[in-house]
Amino acid sequence: MAFDWFWKAMGSSPNKNQKKSKAVVEQADSSRFSAMTDDELRDAATSAIVRGSSGDEHGERPAYVKEASQLLGALREVASRTLNLPPFDVQMQGTYRLLHGDVVEMATGEGKTLAGAMAAVGFALQGKRVHIITVNSYLAGRDDRWMGPMFDFFGLSHGAIHEDLTTDERRNIYQRDVIFGAINELGFDVLRDQLITRREDAVRVDADVAVIDEADSVMVDEALVPLVLAGSEPGPAPAGQITDLVKRMVEGEHFNVSEDQRNVFLTDDGAEFVERELGIESLYGTAESGSAGNAGSAGNGGDSGHSGNGGTADDAGQTLVQINVALHAEHLLTRDVHYIVRDGKVALIDGSRGRVADLQRWPDGLQAAVEAKEGLAVTDGGRILDQITIQALVGMYPEVCGMTGTALAARDQLRQFYGLDVSVIEPNVPTQRFDEQDRVYVTAAERDAAVIEHIVEVQKTGQPQLIGTQDVAESERIADQLVLAGVECSVLNAKNHEAEAAVVAEAGRPGKVTVSTQMAGRGTDIKLGGAQEQDRDEVVEAGGLRVVGVGRFRSERLDNQLRGRAGRQGDPGSSVFFVSLEDDVVAVGGAGEELQAQPEADGRLPQKKVLQFVDHCQRVTEGQMLDIHATTWKYNKLVKDQRDIINDRRDVLLDTAAAWDDLSYHNVDKAAQLQKQGIPQDVLEQAAREIMLYHLDYQWSEHLAYLDDIRESIHLRAIARESPIDEFHRMSIAAFGDLAETAVRKARETFDTVVITEDGAQLDDLGLHKPSATWTYMVNDNPLSSGGGSVMGSIANMFR
Ligand code: ADP
Ligand code: MG
Repeated sequence: MAFDWFWKAMGSSPNKNQKKSKAVVEQADSSRFSAMTDDELRDAATSAIVRGSSGDEHGERPAYVKEASQLLGALREVASRTLNLPPFDVQMQGTYRLLHGDVVEMATGEGKTLAGAMAAVGFALQGKRVHIITVNSYLAGRDDRWMGPMFDFFGLSHGAIHEDLTTDERRNIYQRDVIFGAINELGFDVLRDQLITRREDAVRVDADVAVIDEADSVMVDEALVPLVLAGSEPGPAPAGQITDLVKRMVEGEHFNVSEDQRNVFLTDDGAEFVERELGIESLYGTAESGSAGNAGSAGNGGDSGHSGNGGTADDAGQTLVQINVALHAEHLLTRDVHYIVRDGKVALIDGSRGRVADLQRWPDGLQAAVEAKEGLAVTDGGRILDQITIQALVGMYPEVCGMTGTALAARDQLRQFYGLDVSVIEPNVPTQRFDEQDRVYVTAAERDAAVIEHIVEVQKTGQPQLIGTQDVAESERIADQLVLAGVECSVLNAKNHEAEAAVVAEAGRPGKVTVSTQMAGRGTDIKLGGAQEQDRDEVVEAGGLRVVGVGRFRSERLDNQLRGRAGRQGDPGSSVFFVSLEDDVVAVGGAGEELQAQPEADGRLPQKKVLQFVDHCQRVTEGQMLDIHATTWKYNKLVKDQRDIINDRRDVLLDTAAAWDDLSYHNVDKAAQLQKQGIPQDVLEQAAREIMLYHLDYQWSEHLAYLDDIRESIHLRAIARESPIDEFHRMSIAAFGDLAETAVRKARETFDTVVITEDGAQLDDLGLHKPSATWTYMVNDNPLSSGGGSVMGSIANMFR
């Protein structure tokens, strides 16, 4: 680890707390607590804690754990009684560090669910509301049911958030002391609550603490994934002629694809070709003035807005954007890798997790471009109402802690982006897993052949195997080849978490072969011999679970997540990765470098320098990922800060009569007339509120669209080597400056003309429809292989 010396110098070794944790846990001797009655136990736990108070004559008093050993000792006894899981010492150490706000590293199968739930009790007894964030909704429900009896024991209310709940059910659950939920579900509620027009419509309540399971996945790998809330409204789609045009363009002549496959650049010849074919004067010249025009229209709140197709000044700019989007769709997005076509629709594949989610869409233009490319009906683009990244979402919690099998390798990011420390907890039983050297091949085809041969051989020994692949297409390709080789296997694509959990639970059966994408089946324990460990001895004899990785992931940490599925709780197990020089991580990380080595007859490259080269390539891509994260976060942070300002305004409008005060002062006559008609004051205030919020939300949504536009134009400027992030800041701040003012001005205009009755403001009559059919999606991508839908990747690229 490159930064080890640095942390040592800072006195922040991840192991430095171990001694203290062990001592605290040792003092939590069990005999004292096992003799207690239930009431005495509750008493022991609560009296070990000082509850916070929000301020009386003594002022605000922070909550804290006063007697850690006493709390942990009581919790151990309660877990034994209520869950029949007497916690191991290492789980208690984990709980202790979680209560200190660390991310704890505990290997797979060490029992992080219980460690996290005990910490949640510790926080909740302090009077804090706790969100335990799980990888998916299935696990939220499972963990809530599983750990529930321990919360019940303390009279703490608890529940799980999932997508099938009604609004009222959700609202009810958010009131509880401890809730489990997947980050995207919790995030969508944040976004929806930012659109309410009556305070009582709010669904969620802020929590004090987030306990994040698989913390590195959420906080690092998915940090920049934007959760998007969109309403249906037609968006700009590339015209059919543009799709046709782009199909006729030639790589190397009309456009170039960047080495890392993340961006397409139009060449001068390409631009001329487009201008000639479409009969327009200058694509670039007008693009510049087009975007300047955008800045102007956002600034003065021009009626056409900047996302419309109408304005003449925008036409060339729009064309340029559409050409870029269509090129992107045509040359950077590959069917079955980045998306699949199912039932005549484009469904996105989440590159890193191999997940197909029905509600996922790319930003409107790109989605439409891909639909056009595939010759499908182009769907409505929709309108982005709001969005938030997972990193910003995590930032909303005053206190954060988490657990994962691979925290140490994410230490730099956790520190840099969240200010969190890592504590490593030793395994309960030392690991016996054997990680073999990579087997490297020249081509992917040779590598695949070797993988299949290997799996066939291993299966004969009765050893169960988990095959880890990079994406859905690869998992299916490997599965098909296995079938041809006469090997039966189960394939997991993370399409249905519940069903796949059941399959994964059986992945340890003798001779079983399970092919999986990275996230599929995570959180479910693979017990040797099957879910009931019925054939455990046979599998132990055969060597335990064998993990076979097809291609190294874009970071060593992700490799280790896969390896970690084997060798739980001291079980035997082993892992090996099959790599090819054509893999993304090698091609991208090793771009421009030369490697000279003589392959064997089957394409294998056994040389030590080849193995070192693969490691080197992965370190390069890790560095790139960190760069992308840092630069992209700068961009997202700005949007988040602006959103916070809007939210403060929204809060005032929701909770006070500020909207009515402003509008009635602006048009005194109309206000007086409405009151004379006998319309109740609260109806008038609500009407004013809805008018004001409508325009504020509309302007915010326009602002987001505008930010998208300037990203595109900055993309072009980046070629001219201006400082893109500064430029982005300058333009977005300028546009944001007038947003609220524009909203108020528009609200006053609306107030002048709108009809207000006992039923409120008739906004629909003026065509001011609140977007009703809202849908939510995540923009996911695999920043390495894609470029594809890699909104974030391309932004980061522009900012380099
Ligand atoms: P992790 O999330 O760390 O991979 P889990 O929380 O899923 O691990 O637990 C893995 C397995 O260990 C589960 O089957 C669980 O029942 C078992 N387990 C956890 N804690 C204990 C304990 N203290 N005693 C016995 N079994 C435990
Ligand atoms: Mg787990």
